Amino acid sequence: MLRRDHVKLICDVSELSGLFHDAPSMESFLQKITAMITHHMACEVCSIYLYYEHQNELVLKATTGLNPDSVGEVKLKVGEGLTGQAFQEKRPLREGHAMANPHFRLFPGIGEEHLESFLAVPILRGQVEIGVMVIQSQKRDYFSNEDIQILRAITSQLATTIETARLLITLNTQKQKKPQLVADLKFIKGRSGSQGVALAEAIILDELMTDVEHLAKLSKTLTEEDFHRAVEETEEQLQQLQKHIETELYDVSGLIFTAQILMLKDKGFLDAIEMAIRQGSNPSQAVAKVVREYVRKFNTIQDSYLRDKIYDIKDVGRRLLENMTGLSHHHGDLESCIVVARELLPSDTVKLFSQKVKGIILLSGGVTSHVSILSRSLGIPLVVVDEPGLLSLPEKTKVLLDGVMGYVYINPSQDTIQKVFEREDLHKDLDQLKKNLQSKPRTKDGVPVRLMANINLLGDLKAATEFKADGIGLYRSEFPFLIRSSFPSEEEQYRIYCRLIEGMPGKEVTLRTLDLGGDKILSYFDYGHEENPFLGLRSIRFSLKYKDVFITQIRAMLRAGYGANMRIMFPMISSIDEFQQARGVLQECIYDLEKEKQKIGYPKVGAMVELPSTIEIINELAEEVDFFSIGTNDLVQYLLAVDRTNEKVANLYLPQHPSVLRALKKIVDAALKYGKDVSICGDLAADPKFLPFLLGIGLRTFSLDARYLSKMHKNLYGIVLSQAQQQAGELLKQNKVERTSLLMGLE
Ligand code: PEP
Ligand code: MG
Repeated sequence: MLRRDHVKLICDVSELSGLFHDAPSMESFLQKITAMITHHMACEVCSIYLYYEHQNELVLKATTGLNPDSVGEVKLKVGEGLTGQAFQEKRPLREGHAMANPHFRLFPGIGEEHLESFLAVPILRGQVEIGVMVIQSQKRDYFSNEDIQILRAITSQLATTIETARLLITLNTQKQKKPQLVADLKFIKGRSGSQGVALAEAIILDELMTDVEHLAKLSKTLTEEDFHRAVEETEEQLQQLQKHIETELYDVSGLIFTAQILMLKDKGFLDAIEMAIRQGSNPSQAVAKVVREYVRKFNTIQDSYLRDKIYDIKDVGRRLLENMTGLSHHHGDLESCIVVARELLPSDTVKLFSQKVKGIILLSGGVTSHVSILSRSLGIPLVVVDEPGLLSLPEKTKVLLDGVMGYVYINPSQDTIQKVFEREDLHKDLDQLKKNLQSKPRTKDGVPVRLMANINLLGDLKAATEFKADGIGLYRSEFPFLIRSSFPSEEEQYRIYCRLIEGMPGKEVTLRTLDLGGDKILSYFDYGHEENPFLGLRSIRFSLKYKDVFITQIRAMLRAGYGANMRIMFPMISSIDEFQQARGVLQECIYDLEKEKQKIGYPKVGAMVELPSTIEIINELAEEVDFFSIGTNDLVQYLLAVDRTNEKVANLYLPQHPSVLRALKKIVDAALKYGKDVSICGDLAADPKFLPFLLGIGLRTFSLDARYLSKMHKNLYGIVLSQAQQQAGELLKQNKVERTSLLMGLE
C-alpha cells in the first residue's frame, strides 16, 4: 500500500535536519516539517507543539492543515486535551474518533471540527521533554499501529534538531534583544565577596568600548580645538585621581594612572587621532577609531598581562569623549555606578576605588579571590554571581547590591531598598559594634583567645586599632606590588613596612613575603603564560626563582623590624627543603645587612600551612619552624582540588569536608606538640559556624579582617570550651560531608 511513503519520509526528514540553518525562523523550519509529514502520511493535518517549562504549557508552534492564525495562540497545560495527555504520559495517543473522547479539547475556529482520526506522539530527547507532534485525518480510524511506530521514529530523529533549532533561535533573539533577556532578572542570589550595601546605576565594564562608540555616535560636530581641550582636561582629571589615590592609598598608589596619562602624551596616539580629524572625521569618531585600533592591536598580542592596558585604553577613550562631547553621564568618576564585570584585576579594583565606584558585581573570581579580599580593604561592596545575563543589563538600570547577603536586585522596589538599608544602618552602627568588644576576648568560660588583624592595605590599620586587634596576624605584602607599574624599591617597601609596624606599636606584626601568581599577576613583569597559575610559579616559588626581588623584600622587612615585635612568614610552603631554602635567603640577608652595619630586627620565621603536601610531614615541619599560620583559603582549595576563584565549582568548596577538618587538627596537634605558635588566617577564621570546631581542636589565635573583629568578640563569648571540644570530637569522627554539614548547621 503506497498510501504513506514511510521510507522516503524518514530520509527526507533526516535531510531536513540540515535545512534549519536556512530557515529564517524556527517557526518556518517547523512549518517545513509539518508540510512534509502531511504529504507523506497522506493526512490533512500535522501540528507541532513545543513545551515551555517556565509556563508549564505546550504552545502550537507550526501547523499544516489548521488555521495558521492559531500558531502561538493555542496553548495547552500539561495533561490538557489528548495532546497534553500524550505529553504528560510520555506515550503516543491514538484515537479513531477523537471527538468521542471526553478528553479531546476542541479549539473553536482552528479548523478541527471535521477531523476524526488523531495521533499524538511526544517529542523527547532521552528524558528531555521538547513537545508533541500531532497528525489528524478527516477519515475515521485512519492511523494504524505502523503509523505510530513511524511517527515515533520521526520525532525521535527530529528531537535533537528541533531542540537545537530552538536553542539557536533563542540565542539569536538574545543577541538582538539584549535588554529583554534580562527583563526577567529581578533578583539574583550570589555570594558576598565584600560587605556593604549600594544602590546605583549599573555600568557594564566589558562594554566600555560600547560606551566609547556610543558617545562618538551621539556627539555633535566638533573641532580639532575641542579635541585638544579634551586632552588637557582629561590629563588634569587623571593627575587629580593620581593625587587622590596617593593620599588615600599610600602603599598601593604607585603610579596607577600613569599608563593613561602617558597615553595622552603619546605622540603616536595623538597623531593618529589628529590625522583622522584632518582627513575629515568628526573628532569624536576619530578618537573612537584610534581607540578601537589600539584595543585591536593589544588584543592580538594575546598576552594576559596586557589586559589592564586594554582597560586603560578604553577608559582613556571614554574620558576623552566625555570631556569632548560634554555627554558624560559618569563625569569621569563612577560615583553613581555599580560596576558589573566579567573579571577584574586588583589594579582595576584600585582604579575603580579611586573613581569612587559604589559597588562591584563580579561574574568570576570567587569570594576568597584577591579581588574580593582587596575590595573589603577598600570598602567596596562586592557580590560574586554566576549570571552572565547581567552583562546585558540596559544602560542605567538601577541595581541594589546587598554585599552582606550576597544578593543583587534589579530595579528594586522602594520597599526592598528601605528594608536592606535599614538593616545595613544597624550593622554600621560603630558604637553598637564597639559595645561587643570585651577588654580581652575570651570564651564564656573565660578561655582567652588572641584576635589579630589581617591587613591588605595600610588603610586597614584604622579598623584594626578601632576594634582592638592584638597585632597583625597576616600582612599580605604583595598588594603594593600588584598595583604599581614597576617593582617597588627596597626604600619604598621599607617605608610601607615601617608605617605598618608603627600602626601597631609594641604589638606582634607578622609580615608574609610575596604571594604573587595565581590570581595576583604583575602587569609589568611577564614571566610567561601559565595554563594553571594556581599550580604554577606562585608565591614562595616565585620568590625563590626571582631571588633579587625576594632579597629586596626581605631586606626591607628586616630593616623595618628593627626594635619591633616583627615576624616573617613564607606562603605556600610545600616541603621542609623549601622552607629551609627560603630561610637560608633570609639568613644571608641578615648577614649582609649586618656587614653593612644596618639596624635590623631578628624575626621569628614561620611557614604558612596551605598545601596538602605539608600535612604528612607536619611534625617534622613543626620542629623546623618558629610558628605556623594556617591559610585555609588555599588549604581547602588544594585539598579538595577546587579553584577558589571559579564560581562554577563554588558549591564544591567545602571547608567542612572531613579531610579538611582532620588536616586542621593534625596541624594544630603538631604545633602544640613542638611548642610552636599556631594561628589561622584564612577566611574560615571569621566564620562563626567553624568557631567551636577551631577552638575545640586547640586553636587560640585567629587573624581576620578587622571589620569582623567585633562580631568575633561576641561569638566567642557565646562559646563554652568543653562543649566546643565535644563538638570538635564529634566532627572528627565523621567521614561524610553530609554529616559534618549537618552537625555544623551548614546548608
Ligand atoms: C589563605 O590562603 O588562607 C591565606 C590567608 O592567604 P591568601 O588568601 O592571601 O592566599
Ligand atoms: Mg594563601
